Amino acid sequence: MARSVLVTGGNRGIGLSIARELAAAGDAVAVTYRSGEPPEGLFGVRCDVTSSEDVDTAFSKAEAEHGPVEVVVANAGVTRDTLLPLMKEADFTGVLDTNLTGAFRVAKRATRGMLKMRRGRIIMVSSVVALLGSAGQTNYAASKAGMIGFARSLARELGSRSITVNVVAPGFVETDMTASLESGQQQAILKNVPLGRAATAADVARAVKFLASEDAAYITGAVLPVDGGLGMGH
Ligand code: NDP
Repeated sequence: MARSVLVTGGNRGIGLSIARELAAAGDAVAVTYRSGEPPEGLFGVRCDVTSSEDVDTAFSKAEAEHGPVEVVVANAGVTRDTLLPLMKEADFTGVLDTNLTGAFRVAKRATRGMLKMRRGRIIMVSSVVALLGSAGQTNYAASKAGMIGFARSLARELGSRSITVNVVAPGFVETDMTASLESGQQQAILKNVPLGRAATAADVARAVKFLASEDAAYITGAVLPVDGGLGMGH
């Protein structure tokens, strides 16, 4: 039977690519979308991850359609970049609320069904900047680093139930999120990427597919870089 999968922020960018990759592999995929329309061909559930109620409803709808969620990908994320002296407290707490507390809400709701099934895959989309740091992104880097501590702690809590919790740490990926960077900034990042190119969303999706697969059954608490070597050594 097809596994029930939920991908947050699956209406565009990396999340959409993950959803399409898993659907192509035979999973029954639900994606959350916050605004606009759900992507064609995928089961869409409206959800803002800053609301526990939204997260609960999204899971309930996905479960009603596809059964208990067996694979969850906490992908929804935002940036609000600026240097610390200019950063408003709301820029910091807002990014944390979406990226880190959002992942907490999603993982907590996901474990309900997974604990009963005694199996599951929780995958979080962090970032190379979690470990490398990034000027102008203290809020974002803190949220993505927090995700790693969260995932590793949860991996310890859930291991005995055959539920794995892993993190992917993408580098520079061509999506809407990075499109607003000036070409000078883009070139400066790419200069430090040994593979010499940006990632496509599909590069990240394939790594997520691996962590969600049976082949990754003995991998938990891992941080898998998908960064062309940008963060090597961290
Ligand atoms: P996009 O900006 O293209 O997409 C972000 C997605 O997150 C959208 O689907 C968006 O929904 C959703 N989202 C944002 N806020 C919320 C919210 N409060 N509730 C529900 N959904 C929300 O970004 P990417 O695809 O590039 O990024 C996806 C993930 O990958 C993020 O966590 C990002 O931090 C991470 N990442 C990206 C990198 C990159 O270079 N692009 C590098 C490393 C990590 P909506 O359409 O409604 O806005």
